[in-house]
Amino acid sequence: MMNNVLHIIPALADNYIWLIENQHQQVVIIDPGTAAPVIEYLSHKQLTPAGILLTHHHNDHIGGVLELQKQFPDLLVFGPSEIDLPITNISSQSTVTISDMTFQIIPTPGHTLGHVSYYMQPYLFCGDTLFSAGCGRIFEGTYRQMFNSLVQLSLLPNDTIICPAHEYTLSNLKFAHHLVPHDQDIINYYQQIENQVITLPTTLAREKKINLFLRCDNLELQQQFDCDTPLKLFQFFRIQKDSF
Ligand SMILES: [Zn+2]
Repeated sequence: MMNNVLHIIPALADNYIWLIENQHQQVVIIDPGTAAPVIEYLSHKQLTPAGILLTHHHNDHIGGVLELQKQFPDLLVFGPSEIDLPITNISSQSTVTISDMTFQIIPTPGHTLGHVSYYMQPYLFCGDTLFSAGCGRIFEGTYRQMFNSLVQLSLLPNDTIICPAHEYTLSNLKFAHHLVPHDQDIINYYQQIENQVITLPTTLAREKKINLFLRCDNLELQQQFDCDTPLKLFQFFRIQKDSF
């Protein structure tokens, strides 16, 4: 495994901007929704920005791009075609390489139609598709698209380190606990992170236990909520969460 170092910068109301660093103190920045905390962090840690990866077009993920491009004119910026900025469109590519770091591009439509996730073993940058104990709202896609996107991500290795773009863990766990009040994994994990300011990154192994949206193939849950397919259970959970 390469010696990459993961950094997390809290930004805006509840966003995280992730950086992944190589052995030459170069970093790739994922979803800089704002520039100032990134510029400050880079200078404080003496890191050189090599590129930016964008998951989707929402402003809290791309709002810092123009300012970072101004500060660092050589910066490579990649993202899906739905983003209306001077960047390189990766919608038809399966990988993207920045310096010596190559990321697999996983299309994850649902939250937005062009949403992509980036995977470089063991790290997954999944924007607003998968959260700890939850998943993104479906703004542009269908339930089926979002469900399939989550299935794609759940096929990654169990030790995948998941880096979502928001700190929603506690409220997601409250929702899960409301639906399955006797689930001991959810109770235990809630107690474990209750007083943590930052609960991320998480792992796929953990999410398969505590994230109801990744447990829709569970027959007991399907029976409990009177849904006869994983997709129907997913849709039920998502609709419940939207009004929770
Ligand atoms: Zn979004």
